Amino acid sequence: MQVTIFGTGYVGLVSGTCLAEVGHRVVCVDVDQAKIDGLERGVVPIYEPGLEPMVRANHAAGRLSFTTDAAGAVAGAEVIFIAVGTPPDDDGSADVRHVLEAARTIGRHLQAPAIVASKSTVPVGTADRVREAIAAELSARGVGIEFDVVSNPEFLKEGAAVEDCMRPDRIVIGSASEASIASLRRLYAPFNRNHDRIVSMDVRSAELTKYAANAMLAAKISFMNEIAGIAEKVGADVEQVRKGIGSDPRIGWHFIYPGAGYGGSCFPKDVKALARTAVQHGHEPLLLHAVEAVNERQKGHLFELMLRHYGGIDALRGKTVALWGLAFKPDTDDMREASSRRLLQQLWEAGARVRAFDPEAVREARRLFGERDDLVLCDSDHAALQGADALAVVTEWKQFRSPDFAALRRTLGDAAIFDGRNLYDPAEVEAAGIAYWGIGRGRSI
Ligand code: NAD
Repeated sequence: MQVTIFGTGYVGLVSGTCLAEVGHRVVCVDVDQAKIDGLERGVVPIYEPGLEPMVRANHAAGRLSFTTDAAGAVAGAEVIFIAVGTPPDDDGSADVRHVLEAARTIGRHLQAPAIVASKSTVPVGTADRVREAIAAELSARGVGIEFDVVSNPEFLKEGAAVEDCMRPDRIVIGSASEASIASLRRLYAPFNRNHDRIVSMDVRSAELTKYAANAMLAAKISFMNEIAGIAEKVGADVEQVRKGIGSDPRIGWHFIYPGAGYGGSCFPKDVKALARTAVQHGHEPLLLHAVEAVNERQKGHLFELMLRHYGGIDALRGKTVALWGLAFKPDTDDMREASSRRLLQQLWEAGARVRAFDPEAVREARRLFGERDDLVLCDSDHAALQGADALAVVTEWKQFRSPDFAALRRTLGDAAIFDGRNLYDPAEVEAAGIAYWGIGRGRSI
């Protein structure tokens, strides 16, 4: 099928590439000329495992192209996806400005009947606004072309986006039109072979499904962080508690890891936006507010542990902290709302210096922070430790999991580890002569 995708970010680029991989002809449109020029030359602007070779192969095969020319891209498309960003507005609601701009662009250039499907995460009711925006443009042109607006929320995870796209758990299609659902079934058939993963529903339920999924996952994280806070106070180890509850199949093992708080471009903004939608419709979102509040507190917790270790903020002045991990989670270079950013600010405000390393996010950190005296961006985990007094770990990259604690003991001036992802066994660290501070590990506190 002939597909056009507006937005070549994490969602648009990965979805477009995966659709091309199974044989569709895909045109990716973006307003960012530099990004499009780079992609045409084979430069992939984000890190996603497996993505770059797939982009290059499909581009070379002529199934995947990149353009800023929306008119040409819209003209021949059977399905047009909107996958542009929906950042948080000042009041926490999702800013759908880019989505509506893409809709107007579609309306200005549509030449033949098409399905417009939103992959962007948008508040309930946005599909109606997209429909109105397209209709207004068509009527301004004095033409009547049939189109349908469908909600097709995206569930891929950064860090495993290609894998998620090629083998989705489910494909949610929100539409009242049997014909549109049938067309999207045809589009997704190559991803839907061994059992039916398509869940079709009405448009509003599909829009809400995406928020419900992310809010549930964020709630699980905040719940565990709440338990971790209690564990710390009562002298229990949340890692033992995690194993004790995860074995209950009604609870399960996924997403019950305590840590330095959730970040990224989705959970924080989606929980806020859902809460905002609830308030706007007269429902008080008590649980969503609590999920957010716990996460806000949690992002500052590693620094709290440092204050406890050093006996106050003054002792941190002049210290050098090695920071392992900058991305909001492993296998991505994305630092949007990453816990590392809060810790960096707190350390800088306390007068400490940071030597940071991340396998993929160093370039992004350089773009965000530029040159500053109190930050050295290092090219290896080992380099970050040189001259450091303590080590803080905020992203659970695999390569951080088994350090040589005896060597760390010799390198770290104050022999202290602040483990924001509970990667290490406190007893093993302490046996090496290093003070261990983890999340919810009352045993050692
Ligand atoms: P992103 O910020 O990485 O990319 C958005 C792209 O859209 C940018 O390249 C931007 O230049 C482009 N754009 C903006 N306005 C445009 C326009 N009018 N026409 C064409 N292109 C335009 O965003 P993302 O992370 O890919 O997220 C996109 C949407 O998908 C958001 O609503 C997000 O909530 C949702 N989502 C994201 C993820 C994720 O893991 N990143 C997962 C599921 C859903």
